[in-house]
Amino acid sequence: MSHMLTKTLPPVQSFLLLVSRRISHLTRQQYDVIVVGGGHAGTEAAAAAARVGAETLLVTQKIQTVGALSCNPSLGGVGKGQLVKEIDALDGLCGRAGDWAGIHFSILNRRKGPAVWGPRAQLDRQRYREFIQSELLSTPRLMMLEGSVEELMVAEQNPEEPGQHRVTGIRLANGSHPILASSVVLTTGTFLSGSLFVGQTSSPGGRIGDAPSSTGLSQMLRERLGLKVGRLRTGTPPRIVKDSVDLSLAQLHLPDSHPTPFSFMNTQTRCKPEEQLPCHLTYTTPGVERVVTETLHLNCHIQQDTKGPRYCPSIESRVLRFPGRSHQVWLEPEGMTSDLLYPQGLSMTMPPDMQLRLIREIPCMHRAEIYTPGYGVQYDFVCPTQLSPALQVKSAQGLFLAGQINGTTGYEEAAAQGLWAGVNAARRALSMPLVSLSRTESYIGVLIDDLVSRGVTEPYRMFTSRAEFRTSLRPDNADLRLTPKGFEVGCVSSLRYQEALRVKNSLQDAMAALEALTLSTTIWRTKLPHIHVSESKNSTLTGMDMLQYKDASFEMLASVFSDCLSPYMEFSQRLKIEAVYKPHCDLSKKEMERIQKEENMFLPQDIDYFSLPVSLSKEVREILDKVRPSTLGAATRLEGVTPAAIVSLFNYIQITDRKERITHRSQQDKNQEKEEKLCVNNAVLPH
Ligand code: FAD
Repeated sequence: MSHMLTKTLPPVQSFLLLVSRRISHLTRQQYDVIVVGGGHAGTEAAAAAARVGAETLLVTQKIQTVGALSCNPSLGGVGKGQLVKEIDALDGLCGRAGDWAGIHFSILNRRKGPAVWGPRAQLDRQRYREFIQSELLSTPRLMMLEGSVEELMVAEQNPEEPGQHRVTGIRLANGSHPILASSVVLTTGTFLSGSLFVGQTSSPGGRIGDAPSSTGLSQMLRERLGLKVGRLRTGTPPRIVKDSVDLSLAQLHLPDSHPTPFSFMNTQTRCKPEEQLPCHLTYTTPGVERVVTETLHLNCHIQQDTKGPRYCPSIESRVLRFPGRSHQVWLEPEGMTSDLLYPQGLSMTMPPDMQLRLIREIPCMHRAEIYTPGYGVQYDFVCPTQLSPALQVKSAQGLFLAGQINGTTGYEEAAAQGLWAGVNAARRALSMPLVSLSRTESYIGVLIDDLVSRGVTEPYRMFTSRAEFRTSLRPDNADLRLTPKGFEVGCVSSLRYQEALRVKNSLQDAMAALEALTLSTTIWRTKLPHIHVSESKNSTLTGMDMLQYKDASFEMLASVFSDCLSPYMEFSQRLKIEAVYKPHCDLSKKEMERIQKEENMFLPQDIDYFSLPVSLSKEVREILDKVRPSTLGAATRLEGVTPAAIVSLFNYIQITDRKERITHRSQQDKNQEKEEKLCVNNAVLPH
């Protein structure tokens, strides 16, 4: 099967025609699923719900902004790239959109192992949006409607279930009739009671040029449904006119010479290797710090206590936290033909004239011009501990939440939740059981579990360190881990499933062929003299063992054993990664099995959780200290205690137990020795 990227987009005019036709066909007043919001969560949710088989309506404020990249023109990165690969493995949109719109591809963290590589691409904003819109328009069972949702329809409460609600549809701001649905997915992003900030002024808005979501909706969540709602903030940098920047004064950063597509279904990206655009790196100067400190009194966004994204801070936060330092600024292209640059690292909210003064303190931007100033946004989010792992509100049947409304930040985190909420919303509507993803099988599982069990105190971003099983949750094997499950729950097409199955079977056959190549180390050394087989290794080694050597490649083995290995050449890189990670994965699998077996392991009641010398977060220590579970199994079931914490606890108890036993034994041995000596002495000494 060929994996060529063959998609062609409708030209813009015919595209608008398609949109209006879809809208003019909006005659139903009842759907299986209604998705509110056409951002990253909403588009994945709507497409996934329709793929599962639900009649779906996507309602969003402006059709033309569906799939818009509100902030940075990029996708993926460390932790986030893993999410993109998993969304793709579940047949989501963003991976393929990234391959279509990418203009600079690179794998971050390449010096580390493939488990923590971060596939990333700089994107052309317009191409990305066009791809997403075109995909939605060609998705069967999916309709789009332009409008702002003002109200959720809530069924009368059952007196026997106080506090339990059931959401039955939506009502638009224009006062039209309600539109009913079995499930509603809310994905309002930064728009829920959103306010925009520049300098000393603030105005209602969800994003520059876009009105906020009505305050009625936020009020409804709080007052009618009784949900706990908090407030967070984020910000974006000014966009700079490219021609006004002297890029020769910044460091040139080239993309990978061979772009690696995000999608399992693509072997190449739309952008040819030689067409890719470079990025540039520059640094802030003491002048930048001076402008920040001198303008703090004119900057009301920064003066507020609302929590912002710690891992994507504004230049003001960076300067205040690390005074005297020079900070990186990446100058990234906004599109293939765009005249603008995105200065990553310069998110700011001071008055526009001061923003201009600030950027001109950076040598390559001495004469730079600002196209649009940076600004901040503050918005309501719903505390996600009120959701189930299916992303349904526990106290409101039929209401699902996904994306920034759950306290996350980033396109990838939003898209991942959107897809899973869409799957579950559709399954509920079609009377199928709700489904969840575990931490052991996916980063999406880690993300959802962190949100629903621990909640958020600041915008949540994905990192590889959040996943305790990251050696098995690799970007290269997302298809093996998730495509079969996606097919089972209904969101993966049979085309993708068949292809994933073919790859899975071929990999299994190839690994069996490698395992069957069991030879003595002496023979391996003569056949492959370039591989430095260590003396300490067993006297026989399999082909999989050989592939673990740093200087070994599948191609080398296949050149000697071509009869059995040459059919698998297309998987050479994946087989190398499988071989390298096999011992780690086997070990972590055994660890988990051991923990499951040791459910009844006793946890000492006098244990001081705050001083345990193991890696446990403050929250986990507090929960364990408060509840004092009597067994490991009881600790596993505590809300907020992560599997990583359980592994640490288990290892600690095991080691201390062993130590205690050893100390106990050595004391016993010493006593016995003394007694024996005494006996001997007594025996030899005359009575
Ligand atoms: P959004 O992409 O915000 O989409 C929400 C959608 O819902 C919009 O289409 C909106 O029109 C629609 N909508 C809202 N209310 C209604 C309603 N009542 N009825 C109908 N439609 C409605 N992320 C980072 O990772 N790093 C950053 O530095 C960063 N900075 C940001 C700065 C700014 C100024 C903004 C606006 C966002 C920033 N983001 C950043 C966040 C990033 O854009 C989001 O994480 C991501 O877009 C969230 O996706 P989402 O689908 O949840 O919501």
